[in-house]
Amino acid sequence: MTRILLVEDEELVGTMVRMNLESEGHEVVWLRDAEAAWQTLASSAGRFDLVLLDIALPGMSGLDLLEKLRAAELGTPVLMLTARSDVSTKVAALDHGADDYLTKPFDVPELVARVKAMIRRSQAEREIPTDQLVHIGEYEIDLRARRAASREGAVTLSDKEVRLLQLFLSSEGETLKRADILDIVWGMDAWPSERTVDNFILRLRKLFELDHTQPRHFLTVRGLGYRFVH
Ligand code: CA
Repeated sequence: MTRILLVEDEELVGTMVRMNLESEGHEVVWLRDAEAAWQTLASSAGRFDLVLLDIALPGMSGLDLLEKLRAAELGTPVLMLTARSDVSTKVAALDHGADDYLTKPFDVPELVARVKAMIRRSQAEREIPTDQLVHIGEYEIDLRARRAASREGAVTLSDKEVRLLQLFLSSEGETLKRADILDIVWGMDAWPSERTVDNFILRLRKLFELDHTQPRHFLTVRGLGYRFVH
């Protein structure tokens, strides 16, 4: 069960968000102002998997709260809710340490997808300690150092390659859709196409499969996406 803290003063928006996230199986705590949210997070930030934070709030603004959270080194992922056409606010949100943002009015499926992607991203990061050495077949990967002994010899992996590996390792046996992989690994970075995912998989196969044309670890699930098995 994931716990989400919703900070939103608009009744209609708050009601809609809470209802939809609860129907997806999340527990939602809804507070109407940033001061109350600060009190709650300062005493139990670890209780929450995600904060959905409106910017325009009575009293302390969402941006001020975000700044306080990051200054206090509370790293709970934050999805900001911003007003459409307000580019400078979005930039400020990211500068203040927001993990993602959504412009109002937003579609419910989009909100649900973003929340799902953010939770998976933070769980993937939590579940695989980055100092861990992992093995795929006969190859060894040092995720923290981003170094690997691969079929092509010693290589340095890019951040995205490491994130993709972490995602696969934390969802072994599960079919991952290309769109979900993009969401989780690439997040807000200038949306690449699903072809990008295919290219990265090909690269991982060349590094960590004995024969990249006969993959045994990074498997294609036809019409759906990819599945990793050890
Ligand atoms: Ca508001």
